[in-house]
Amino acid sequence: MPLSARAGLDAVPAYRQGRSAPAGASKLSSNESPHPPLPSVVDAVQERLAGIHRYPDMSAAAVRAQLAARYDVDMAQVTVGAGSVEIAAQLIHAVAGAGDEVVFAWRSFEAYPSLVRIAGAVPVPVPLDADHAHDLDAMLAAITPRTRLVFVCNPNNPTGTVVDAEALERFVAAVPRDVLVVIDEAYVHFDRSASRGAGIDLFRRHPHVAVLHTFSKAYGLAGLRIGYAIAPTEIAEAQRKVAVPFGVTDLAQAAALASLAAEKELAVRIDEVVAQRERLHAVLTAAGWPAVRSQANFVWVPAGERTTELDELLHAGGVVARAFAGEGVRISSGSAEDVDRVEAALAASAPASDAVAALEEVSA
Ligand SMILES: *Cc1c(COP(=O)(O)O)cnc(C)c1O
Repeated sequence: MPLSARAGLDAVPAYRQGRSAPAGASKLSSNESPHPPLPSVVDAVQERLAGIHRYPDMSAAAVRAQLAARYDVDMAQVTVGAGSVEIAAQLIHAVAGAGDEVVFAWRSFEAYPSLVRIAGAVPVPVPLDADHAHDLDAMLAAITPRTRLVFVCNPNNPTGTVVDAEALERFVAAVPRDVLVVIDEAYVHFDRSASRGAGIDLFRRHPHVAVLHTFSKAYGLAGLRIGYAIAPTEIAEAQRKVAVPFGVTDLAQAAALASLAAEKELAVRIDEVVAQRERLHAVLTAAGWPAVRSQANFVWVPAGERTTELDELLHAGGVVARAFAGEGVRISSGSAEDVDRVEAALAASAPASDAVAALEEVSA
């Protein structure tokens, strides 16, 4: 018998990284921060470089202590991982095994279905509603005795929509206590709606809620890989058992600590990204594209069968976005220059479509 991979792995879609951008292009495909790291963060990392012959603190105690104090939770309830993708995996492995079900909205974060399959569990995607938002009633209806975990991505990637705080509370209250509700708030810092930060609040008031945060997006540490969860104590304990030992490097821990100490500076940058998100939405709408209002650091354009057209238009204008064939294009908000470039790229289509219209008139 030849070697073969574990049964079931063929059902795991490979994670696709956002397209890389040619030199000089605007890389708006991975929801990264358009800002380079803060000098204080670079200094903190540099200082620790001389110690990389040592293993990191596996418990990331300093970071967890800071986070526990900040959210006023027990340190035992704070877990870290190599990005919140790893934390999502930990949470799944902590509660779900072969044949168990994990419910999430779809389309949502691309990693969910793969992570669920890798755990041997069964993904249960529930279509978004007509407004590209979570359909919480349908998600509730999708819960069966086999369900172990439900993801709520808020704001949702890639649509940027948020769930109303009261609706989320009703949902959490209705989910059976033996099902873990994971509220993925990777983009919470960009949320200017009334539901901002609802996750921690729900964690405090319900025994079956975990909240997922990351340093990758608003804090600009995507390249260093550190994220965290605030989870019920017994789940956090299980997470530590399934985590890859030493997954979070010392450099990542140092950068996270320095970032937590620089939140005022980071807030200015976040406001800037939010301002560009609003501009990006306006630019897309003005050019006739059906952009969805977003509370994240990107804008979703459900272009449907015009998805490739929009993607190519952007590409021709030096903008690399994330296209989901036949569904839409997600464009990260980027810097003012990035949005200028999107605007110029979209404007380039005007003469072309005018020309097409003129041609059609001639031939009609
Ligand atoms: C980007 C993202 C994450 C986090 O990514 P990490 O870099 O692994 O922390 C988590 N959830 C969603 C929905 C995301 O879009």
